Amino acid sequence: MGRGQLIAKTVPTTQTVPSWFIRLSGIKGCEHRQQVQSGGADYGELILHCDATLPQTETWQRALNRVATLGGVIMVLFIILALTLRTSLVALTQLVDAYRRFLKDHHTRVAVGGAREIQQLGSAFNAMADEVEATLKALAEAQGRLQKEAELNHVTLMSIGDGVITTDPAGLVTQMNPVAEQLTGWPVMEAVQQPLTEVFHIVQEGTRETAINPIFRLAEANTVTALETHMRLIARDGSETPIEDSAAPILRENGDIIGYVLVLSDVSEKKALQKKIGWQATHDALTKLPNRALLADRLNQAVARNDRSQLLLAVGLLDLDEFKPVNDRLGHACGDQLLKLATARMLETLRATDTLARLGGDEFVLVLSDLTSLDEAETIFGRLLDRLAEPYTLDGEVAQLTASLGFTLYPLDQTDPDTLLRHADEAMYTAKHSGRNRYQLFDAQHDQKRQARQEQTKEIRLALAAGEFELFYQPKVDMRQGRVTGFEALARWRHPQRGIVPPGEFLHHMEDNELGSKLGRFVLDTALGRVAEWRRAGLNDWSVAVNIAPQHFTAPHFLDDLKDAIARHPDVPPQCLELEIVESAAIADLHHAARVIAACHELGIRLALDDFGVGYASLSYLKRLPVDVLKIDQSFVRDVLDDPGDLAVVEAVITLSTLFGRDVVAEGVEVAEQGVLLLRLGCHIAQGYGIARPMPADEVAGWAATWQPDPSWALWANTQWEMSDFPLLVAQYDHQRWIKSVLNTLDGGRLSITQQELTNHRACRLGHWYENHGRRRYGHLTTFQEMEPLHAEVHRTGQEILQLKAEGRLAEAETQARYLTELKTRILDSLASLQREVMRTGVGAGKNLPA
Ligand code: C2E
Ligand code: CA
Ligand code: CA
Repeated sequence: MGRGQLIAKTVPTTQTVPSWFIRLSGIKGCEHRQQVQSGGADYGELILHCDATLPQTETWQRALNRVATLGGVIMVLFIILALTLRTSLVALTQLVDAYRRFLKDHHTRVAVGGAREIQQLGSAFNAMADEVEATLKALAEAQGRLQKEAELNHVTLMSIGDGVITTDPAGLVTQMNPVAEQLTGWPVMEAVQQPLTEVFHIVQEGTRETAINPIFRLAEANTVTALETHMRLIARDGSETPIEDSAAPILRENGDIIGYVLVLSDVSEKKALQKKIGWQATHDALTKLPNRALLADRLNQAVARNDRSQLLLAVGLLDLDEFKPVNDRLGHACGDQLLKLATARMLETLRATDTLARLGGDEFVLVLSDLTSLDEAETIFGRLLDRLAEPYTLDGEVAQLTASLGFTLYPLDQTDPDTLLRHADEAMYTAKHSGRNRYQLFDAQHDQKRQARQEQTKEIRLALAAGEFELFYQPKVDMRQGRVTGFEALARWRHPQRGIVPPGEFLHHMEDNELGSKLGRFVLDTALGRVAEWRRAGLNDWSVAVNIAPQHFTAPHFLDDLKDAIARHPDVPPQCLELEIVESAAIADLHHAARVIAACHELGIRLALDDFGVGYASLSYLKRLPVDVLKIDQSFVRDVLDDPGDLAVVEAVITLSTLFGRDVVAEGVEVAEQGVLLLRLGCHIAQGYGIARPMPADEVAGWAATWQPDPSWALWANTQWEMSDFPLLVAQYDHQRWIKSVLNTLDGGRLSITQQELTNHRACRLGHWYENHGRRRYGHLTTFQEMEPLHAEVHRTGQEILQLKAEGRLAEAETQARYLTELKTRILDSLASLQREVMRTGVGAGKNLPA
């Protein structure tokens, strides 16, 4: 056993501990028993008894103390809490109050103070109030604007000149403005909720069919429908107004249709104006006749109608003759009056179905339909012209007026209205040119030719531009010297399909226009270029002759063209160029021609008068035209051996040239005898198929290198015979022709000599010569005398050949033909020796010239 203190305590009895506390505290009394032994001696038992009252009381006491302290603390806490709550409550009450005031006055704010939370609350309230106030302000403004807009819309709607009707999506009227009310005859109060078709009834102007209501047209497209014209609105009382309308859906932002708006305008005035303008646009103000525009319409209709009727339609164009002088003399006011009177007279003579239109000025068009014959048209036109020609009295003055009228008949002239008018116009010009105060039917054939010509001119122009033209060259030779002197440049068209086209087929399409000059420039340039090439090849003697068309020669730019061409070929001396002009070009304006020729001479260029003898050339012309060369026309040269008239011309031209000191060239030399004759006559420059045909440029040099002059020319080269000896040559040539004609019949040819010439050897041209000129001049020569029996034999044989042929004895005829050829040679030999004898002895008047 440990050492311990044993304290005995007494429990104060004043303090009683409640039993619940004792129970609750769990403090109980206890008893402890212990045997007391010592040294093995048992001292007894010690019983220790503990009473619980004391600890219970102490614990109770302590608990009571604690509770008292706690209560105090709680009291204090309560007091604090109550105080706090009181302040918060004031703030909250203020907030509530502020809220109430805010509803009435948005400027209301609370003072921010007190507890943090209360402060936050106050700030939050104020912020919210600011926001609400701003929003409300914006709202008010927006509302104001809306209000204004709505007012404006309303005023607009009410005062707008157009009628406006709105409907709901189902098409029931929701609103309409006074104009719509007035146009439809429906007061808005009654119209509202009525179907639109009821209030707004429209028909097509022409057909009077009920028109589709515009909002139905919208069913397809949700946009504004096009303005519909030519509509008539039938009002409630049945009255009508021409209107134009358009409709549009009223859409929400999301695209939903919330109705339709229909705008309709009264177009009565517009229509009236249109009508007026329309009339002015289609009529001539002075005569009140249809003008050109309306005429086109009428003419189209007339042609279309005529196609159905199968009758004739006359389209006439009338032009007053000499109206301008009358107009000038009487004054314009009277002129106008005259036009009106003339119009009235024309209308009198025309039928109601005819159209008279004024094209302007003093030009009128007549369209006469349903004619059965040309006669009928002519009768009407004749009457009309007669009536027009009657005197007019204007302000006491008497005026006379006639007209020229051209017309065409459809469908004889099967063409379009425009061309009909053009044809009438052309015929009118013909009427004017043939003396005025008459009518003239259009000549379709003539027009076709003219058109074809135009086409061809166009084709030629393109060909020229495309380089399809070129020059051929025909030599000119000096028969006496047997040398080439130059070439004439002759235009050719190398047509892609037709081949070489000669100038005869294109030159006449180049007349009267710039095209001729164009060709002229081309020819000049090309020919000079060719001379330059010849010269480069050492062929320095050759000149070139270029044909100049009359219209080019007389053109003001001719000399410039010429100078340009020369300037482009500085290496060609102008002396190498010769220009050939025909008389007609020269004598059209002699002064001008003479000046141009003089200018050419200044440039060093020679001039030839081409085709000399065929035109009007006379001594006086020749005197005034300083040309250098006369070219005897080939038509005279061709027949110079046959036709004494041509021979006389050729001779005269050669004489003229000698007289005037001009050179002379003969063209169209086809046989050597022509050359001989020309030589004998004194013309030694010749050109013709007998020498060479025109040839392409690249053949020229080759031809010149191989060409040989005819031997007979050399024979006569230095001899000039008198005219009296020419018949010998002619006789020679004639004899050959006679033989040829007879032999030709064996090949089926026709006998080209007369029966008399065949049978009588004194009646043919050789016989004539023999008995007359020949006998007189050569009768003393034996050669001459020996010819007579030969000649008689020729005629006998000729007759026999024809006889044999007629009997079908062809073989015998052939034998005789060979004999005839023999005889011919003998006669020609005789003639040749006669010529030689003449030359040798100077018998006759022939004389030798120095070489
Ligand atoms: P032209 O000036 O009288 O030319 C002579 C014409 O006669 C040429 O015809 C030529 O080929 C032809 N001719 C030449 N020798 C003979 C012959 O022995 N017998 C026959 N029967 N005819 C012969 P082409 O080339 O057809 O020219 C015809 C006309 O055209 C020319 O007649 C001339 O007036 C004109 N011409 C030709 N080329 C041009 C040119 O470039 N410009 C102009 N303005 N006219 C030209
Ligand atoms: Ca010529
Ligand atoms: Ca000629």
